[in-house]
Amino acid sequence: MKTYRIALVPGDGIGKEVVPAGRRVLETVAEVESDCAFAFEEFPWGADFYRRHGVMMPDDGLEAFKAKHAILFGSAGDPAIPDHVTLWGLRLKICQGLDQYANVRPARILPGIDAPLKRCRAEDLDWIIVRENTEGEYSGAGGRVHTGFPTEVATEVAILTRAGVERIQRYAFRLAASRPRKRLTVVTKSNAQRHAMVMWDEIAREVARDFPDVAWDKEMVDAMTARMVNRPASLDTIVATNLHADILSDLAAALAGSLGIGPTANINPERVYPSMFEPIHGSAFDIMGKGIANPIGTFWSAVLMLEHLGEAEAARRVMRAIEQVTANPRLHTRDLGGPATTGEVTDAVCAQMRAAAKSPLTAA
Ligand code: NAD
Ligand code: MN
Repeated sequence: MKTYRIALVPGDGIGKEVVPAGRRVLETVAEVESDCAFAFEEFPWGADFYRRHGVMMPDDGLEAFKAKHAILFGSAGDPAIPDHVTLWGLRLKICQGLDQYANVRPARILPGIDAPLKRCRAEDLDWIIVRENTEGEYSGAGGRVHTGFPTEVATEVAILTRAGVERIQRYAFRLAASRPRKRLTVVTKSNAQRHAMVMWDEIAREVARDFPDVAWDKEMVDAMTARMVNRPASLDTIVATNLHADILSDLAAALAGSLGIGPTANINPERVYPSMFEPIHGSAFDIMGKGIANPIGTFWSAVLMLEHLGEAEAARRVMRAIEQVTANPRLHTRDLGGPATTGEVTDAVCAQMRAAAKSPLTAA
């Protein structure tokens, strides 16, 4: 019997609604899988913590994560606190502090989802976006001088390191090689950004030599948005810088049906530190506290967590239950045009897992 120590960080906004829902799904995994259990510890960090202590999480907070197998995260962001304070104080602090340099975001049109592209069949959109997660445009380098004066100057410096670029490209090529289509698109902007992005392209060419069975191509980020809409089937695995992939992955989630569905894995591939799993969305101020947040993005993130932990069968079980639930439009939340609440979707996914465990026909 394996017991996985899981840190829960609901954070703010709808994170406080979807992370408890994710916990219930994992508890149901433990119920139906005889050889796998979870020991949860919840960390009440985020905007409320900030209001009491002036920081989003304790300075030595990352230490507590080092004994965990994985982290399930909700969202950082509060209407009363500047977004850069909440994001840097919690999510970026964890991702950068635990060297989770590969941010991995699958996008697929799940059964029953009415996706917005008319000519796109479900099999045309099956992508996995790899986002560089520790540097680039989010390196935090820069500053402001003459603050508040008409002469004010502000810089935001993107930093790409050879080591940082090579490890994310290598991760993406390896992932592409493991997928049936063995196809990678490297997103760039090396026509306008003539230093760091040119190095990014050069390193892609170098790494590609080690993966002769991967068919790869290069696409400018602006053209990439059009290609995602017009020729979705031409894409499979995608690698991009921190900012580019951040934007493209919200587009991918929307094209797959809703921001409420997209999952994320923040991976430390060397497993020196625990990895963190979270829905792609943020705090969703407009719907927080209403009980209507779509929890599927968090459930799918839990699937990625189970895969990372080596629990492939449990991961398949949860994914099957998710797909059985999305197939029923009465179980869609409002973002998908349906009437269901977060609680109803969660109940339904847990019930599917229990039913599948009892029935030898569906428990493949
Ligand atoms: P958002 O993802 O919170 O919301 C964008 C839109 O999508 C909203 O209309 C929202 O209602 C909808 N939406 C998002 N998730 C949904 C779900 N699960 N179910 C139903 N509808 C959903 O993005 P935003 O409005 O740009 O950001 C709000 C706050 O969240 C900001 O403070 C931002 O910095 C923060 N944020 C945090 C993270 C993170 O911690 N990983 C990511 C993105 C945004
Ligand atoms: Mn984002």
